[in-house]
Amino acid sequence: MQKIQMKTPLVEMDGDEMTRILWQQIKDELILPFVDLKTEYYDLGLPEREKTKDQVTIDAANANKKYGVAVKCATITPNKQRVEEYNLTEMWKSPNGTIRAILDGTVFRAPILIDSIKPAVRNWKKPITIARHAYGDVYKATEYRVPAEGKAELLFTAKDGTEWRQPIYDFECAGVLQGQYNKDSSIRSFAHSCFQYAINTKQDLWFSTKDTISKQYDQTFKLIFEEIYQNEYKAEFEKLGIEYFYTLIDDAVARVVRSKGGFIWACKNYDGDVMSDMVSTAFGSLAMMTSVLVSPDGNYEYEAAHGTVTRHYYRYLKGEETSTNPMATIFAWTGALRKRGELDGLDDLVAFADKLEAACIKTLDDGIMTKDLSGLVEDKSAVKAVNSLEFLKAIRERM
Ligand code: NAP
Ligand code: MG
Repeated sequence: MQKIQMKTPLVEMDGDEMTRILWQQIKDELILPFVDLKTEYYDLGLPEREKTKDQVTIDAANANKKYGVAVKCATITPNKQRVEEYNLTEMWKSPNGTIRAILDGTVFRAPILIDSIKPAVRNWKKPITIARHAYGDVYKATEYRVPAEGKAELLFTAKDGTEWRQPIYDFECAGVLQGQYNKDSSIRSFAHSCFQYAINTKQDLWFSTKDTISKQYDQTFKLIFEEIYQNEYKAEFEKLGIEYFYTLIDDAVARVVRSKGGFIWACKNYDGDVMSDMVSTAFGSLAMMTSVLVSPDGNYEYEAAHGTVTRHYYRYLKGEETSTNPMATIFAWTGALRKRGELDGLDDLVAFADKLEAACIKTLDDGIMTKDLSGLVEDKSAVKAVNSLEFLKAIRERM
């Protein structure tokens, strides 16, 4: 068989633990037999990050900027226990955080739906995509544990030395303090990424914050979105028959639960973190959640939303059978290959991505699935639970 040719390399970011094992198996079983794969390879596995003092992560993110499209495997974000386990000289930062800071993007997460698994919310018929602003707020906050009685103030010093001062609270006892920030430039990028993604996928866009309570901070988000929508996207939205609408986060939660799905829900950083786990769990499984980071200048990084599935990896190391779900990681590959194909005008590469996704869905529709999913299907008689490799081979048969 003639393999499908590529023009521009994909930036390939390898990762850790169970997902690293799956990564190789996915390539061997589902991609390399069909595509003359061109990648620029970066090993973001923790040992290599340690060896390069995390330079490899920065290089990978810059390569993503250079070529435009990357596919990333899940990686360990070191904590104290990992520092010991991997004998690290430093607690290296989250690779995703580093990549996001360099690309300045928005993360879009959407579940993969199959007929046999009904969402916990019965009326959800189509995927709900969460667009998470991936910069600032509580993730870049400065915190202080107030030890005892005292006065807290907010102080801003302008470049010319002018001071703006505002009391926060007169503490009569111990307590806590937090200073958060965001930047207009980042909020603007967030808004552009969301409007463009809505246009690309022809879905309505919802945006929610708590601007009634946060009269400067959240209000700024709301106003920037509104201004950009009115000036730059309204006409295109109307032409496509899609809608942008803003509502309060508590109202949005109620509407989302009552909805049929099929729209994008843009959230601030923390809201997006929390809501994407809620939405993915209600749709079925974290292992079925796809994720793509879209930067305002049109760079894409595709990955699975879940982590390295450590518990399964330890079982794998002991030689035990593992049934880890590769769906979201496969869809990271298909997402990246499709985007590469679109950008380079390679119709057969786009078609390949479509066919691979269809083969995955067909396999699940045939009742062949990993254990995380088989447990969720109501009619157990129609289901065969398999291990990861058997699942990949079943997809390949259907390819
Ligand atoms: P996790 O790897 O997502 O796994 C949590 C649990 O969810 C698993 O133990 C498993 O449950 C289930 N699960 C997740 N993905 C699955 C899949 N593909 N197939 C079947 N079951 C799946 O989260 P974690 O255990 O909290 O984190 C592990 C490591 O991943 C950490 O070092 C963390 O830093 C890293 N992480 C990386 C990313 C990223 O790179 N984007 C994101 C999150 C976490 P059962 O064990 O019950 O089967
Ligand atoms: Mg989270």
